Amino acid sequence: MVKLYLKSGKEESLKRFHPWIFSGAIAHFDGEPEEGEVVEVYTSKKEFIAEGHFQIGSIAVRVLSFKQVPINLDFWKKRLAVALDLRRSIGVADNPENDTYRLVHGEGDSLPGLIIDVYAHTAVMQAHSAGMHVDRMEIAKALEEVMDGRIQNIYYKSETTLPFKADLAPENGFLLGGSTDNIACENGLKFHVDWLKGQKTGFFVDQRENRALLERYSKNRNVLNMFCYTGGFSFYAMRGGANLVHSVDSSAKAIDLTNKNVELNFPGDPRHEAFAEDAFKYLDRMGDQYDLIILDPPAFAKHKDALRNALMGYRKLNAKAFEKIKPGGILFTFSCSQVVTKDNFRTAVFTAAALSGRNVRILHQLTQPADHPVNIYHPEGEYLKGLVLYVE
Ligand code: SAH
Repeated sequence: MVKLYLKSGKEESLKRFHPWIFSGAIAHFDGEPEEGEVVEVYTSKKEFIAEGHFQIGSIAVRVLSFKQVPINLDFWKKRLAVALDLRRSIGVADNPENDTYRLVHGEGDSLPGLIIDVYAHTAVMQAHSAGMHVDRMEIAKALEEVMDGRIQNIYYKSETTLPFKADLAPENGFLLGGSTDNIACENGLKFHVDWLKGQKTGFFVDQRENRALLERYSKNRNVLNMFCYTGGFSFYAMRGGANLVHSVDSSAKAIDLTNKNVELNFPGDPRHEAFAEDAFKYLDRMGDQYDLIILDPPAFAKHKDALRNALMGYRKLNAKAFEKIKPGGILFTFSCSQVVTKDNFRTAVFTAAALSGRNVRILHQLTQPADHPVNIYHPEGEYLKGLVLYVE
């Protein structure tokens, strides 16, 4: 196995179990690793400290283990078994009302670079690192064994998530089974998952609990679900007894999916309408009919450089909602940009509120659900932030 030696002092973050090694920390290699290969990491004093997947780029190694253990079928099975046990403990797996959950959340499950979402009998697996791509067949085998009949299909979807530098020719496709039956269930509500063409793995699993909270606020309200994608918040609002629900997304495909999903749960229900339109245009023209608004935009900042613009985007967007929402209205507002901190986001929303001059109270501070756990040694894993606000 190729060995990698760190520069003196660069082992500090690894002693605190942080799972990334940046390329600048490397002194030299003993051998020439291929992208995606497992390498052993040694300190400048030649002591073993970690092992993980090597990749060309700023994050050179993603740590799989801080112990010297073989990375084989048994290793993947052990890690996946812990991940499944956690999902059973929190009540999202083996729950007849809910067969949709994230089984593996990268660093949060000590499997950096790997995402696995479960939709009924299908697991959608996504590699974000060359190493997870290289090991995909063995991981799929481990997954099939650990899931022990819970899933019949594994769809691999990594064409857009792998680093372009890696010459890996990823192919999307089934690694197990091949069923196109794609209806899954979240908290008793049904939806179609488009794992072939949809965003992420096909559904935004991370909003499950926030949607459930929204349901509790929906009774007799006029709801705007802005950035609706597959309409998750919309069908929860309908079950919660909303007067009307309007779903908006700039993507016509998202609007089709939303209509299909609402139809699946509430066939022929006239309370729902969906519009394919740009958010800012819609917010400008919509008037003051809503007293419950959801703003769940895409990540405005994917990199640190884009932070300033992103914060301006959040401010503008929220300012529109504060300007238009009815007195006594409730605003659910989110940011899923990892580089935007909780404080950044709160300041942007605060500024928007101040611009409107309205009295605003924070009712809930939201985050990602427990099946998107944050590794305590990797605080970067916390990405979803939300505020529920009462607007006087
Ligand atoms: N709330 C959704 C997830 C939202 S993802 C859920 O619960 O599943 C973000 C969505 O914003 C995407 O569907 C994307 O098509 C949409 N979007 C991006 N830019 C937009 C814009 N300018 N106006 C309206 N929608 C936009």
